[in-house]
Amino acid sequence: MLDRHLIEQRLSDVQSRIAKAERRYGRMPGSVQLIAVSKTRPIEDIAAAYAVGQTRFGENYVQEAVAKIHALRDLAVEWHFIGPLQSNKTRDVAEHFAWVHSVDKLKIAERLNAQRPAHLPPLQVCIQVNTSGEDSKSGIGAHALPALAAAVAKLPRLTLRGLMALPAPAEDFDGQCAALRPLHELWTQLRSLGLDIDTLSMGMSSDLEAAIAEGATLVRVGTDIFGARG
Ligand SMILES: *Cc1c(COP(=O)(O)O)cnc(C)c1O
Repeated sequence: MLDRHLIEQRLSDVQSRIAKAERRYGRMPGSVQLIAVSKTRPIEDIAAAYAVGQTRFGENYVQEAVAKIHALRDLAVEWHFIGPLQSNKTRDVAEHFAWVHSVDKLKIAERLNAQRPAHLPPLQVCIQVNTSGEDSKSGIGAHALPALAAAVAKLPRLTLRGLMALPAPAEDFDGQCAALRPLHELWTQLRSLGLDIDTLSMGMSSDLEAAIAEGATLVRVGTDIFGARG
């Protein structure tokens, strides 16, 4: 558990970095939202960040997340699932989260659509794209993206919001921009095909400025808020 003031200080530093990058790269003030990635962190750290105004939190592991969501159910947290998603875990995600960033197969999307409870609003979905072309990484390949996006957009209990990527770490700012740019290009292409999407989920602690320069609307930051994970 971290000191409450340390979390407050780090959150405010990250918010300043976001605001500064918005100005520097010609983005509208307030057009980039922060998701605090709280995987492996205790509920006390989440509550401390929430107490100073952070409402969006990202989690990667379904079981761990469901326990935290239950413990913090009295807080108005917007929970984002950002980890790899297997079909046997879709029900927990459909029942507990507002957003999922890591949809990369139609089968997974169809299960989430069928399992989203009727009393909740549609699940907000980003499709994870593998822009680096490595076979081992999760995310759909660029060639198959338009068909998947069109199919996901038709599912009534899901709202397709945009794209997510997790590129391999790059050496410097220019390398980070080069790694992130293809996601923006694919996003623009989908919009030109008529898909009504507004979200680009990219950028973490080490590349959030590059992500903002390249058009991110949601950045997912863990380490620079909560410290290095053990
Ligand atoms: C862990 C994680 C993050 C946060 O990474 P940091 O480097 O700790 O900021 C962002 N996105 C995803 C998908 C993650 O798994």
